[in-house]
Amino acid sequence: MASVSTIVDYTNALLEIAQFSDYCPNGLQVQGKEEVQLILGGVTASRDLIDAAIAARADAILVHHGYFWKGEDPCITGIKYQRIRRLIEAGISLLAYHLPLDAHAEYGNNAQFGRLMGFQTDGGFARRGNIDIASYGHLPEPQSASALNERLQAALQRKPLYIQGHDRPIRRIGWCTGAAQGYIDEAAALGLDAFISGEVSEHTYHAARESGIDYFAVGHHASERYGVMALGQHLSRHFGLEFTFKDLQNPV
Ligand SMILES: [Zn+2]
Repeated sequence: MASVSTIVDYTNALLEIAQFSDYCPNGLQVQGKEEVQLILGGVTASRDLIDAAIAARADAILVHHGYFWKGEDPCITGIKYQRIRRLIEAGISLLAYHLPLDAHAEYGNNAQFGRLMGFQTDGGFARRGNIDIASYGHLPEPQSASALNERLQAALQRKPLYIQGHDRPIRRIGWCTGAAQGYIDEAAALGLDAFISGEVSEHTYHAARESGIDYFAVGHHASERYGVMALGQHLSRHFGLEFTFKDLQNPV
């Protein structure tokens, strides 16, 4: 057991949240009971995740996608009211880490995704401030696009959307979890054979074909499970807490 303030202070420092200029606040977004024994992790602080936390008698929720996004209506009404009301009534704290959890070298979504797929990391790109949001590296052995596609599907349990940009084997590869399809131009400028992200736009198809880079959209949710999992397991070990990851289905 640990106090929520101890866990939040530790995690804020671990993920170096002060280094990021993000689209949302990072850290404790909704305060709940002071003592934490069970943390439930998930990708998004949706109503279903909150209901799962209430059913599991969790003291805190740890997510990648929390609330209070830049540009959204700041009022606590509608869906946001229903979610926050449930949290407050149950005394469940909401801890949310967005870009700091994408970029962390050990527990980050990109680091964990690269590890899951066996990619060797060589560096980063898509710089925001002094932080690289995307990663690039190489496959241990060159691989055909169809073989990589099958491996992605098996690892993530979800069929990727593949856009062919060339017919060479893939060796140098870039990846960025979530909705990072907009970085395809930077990936192509680096001379990478393929770029992987979660989502896809109409424009991505033309960008891939015309700049000669293969593109794989593997799912926003599917690509962003692994940072919360790794961070939650670390917090569990560090503080002697229980941590459970709840993988709610999301086809996007
Ligand atoms: Zn995301």
